[in-house]
Amino acid sequence: MVEKDCVFCKIVAGELPSEIVYEDDDILAFKDINPVAPVHILLIPKKHIPTITDIEEEDAALMGKLLLAAGKVADKMGIFDRGFRLVNNCREEGGQMVYHLHFHLLGGKQFGSVG
Ligand code: AMP
Ligand code: ZN
Repeated sequence: MVEKDCVFCKIVAGELPSEIVYEDDDILAFKDINPVAPVHILLIPKKHIPTITDIEEEDAALMGKLLLAAGKVADKMGIFDRGFRLVNNCREEGGQMVYHLHFHLLGGKQFGSVG
């Protein structure tokens, strides 16, 4: 379950420091080290799943929990009503740098349309 050399698995294990804003049995949310918006939180399943294309049937409930956590974290960060952007970068052309599935919760500014 814990992948050696995975930065986010190390954060889950407490082997790397992070600013955690939400945690439950399955999900962790922490501040992005290089924020691109006033609110920039990373939401991850504690389970090591490399990319969104690696999700299996057995992960369906876990992915639901991840989306529910996004709402909870948005509320906690004061952007629930204002709105926010939830982004997943998948694989090379998607710009994925860390191969442990995550959503970027971005908010606190006005975004334009995608693309
Ligand atoms: P992605 O391109 O979607 O894989 O984004 C990976 C994100 O992880 C980037 O926004 C990085 O700034 C962020 N990141 C990398 N290492 C850490 C870390 N140790 N703590 C917090 N955020 C990190
Ligand atoms: Zn991992």
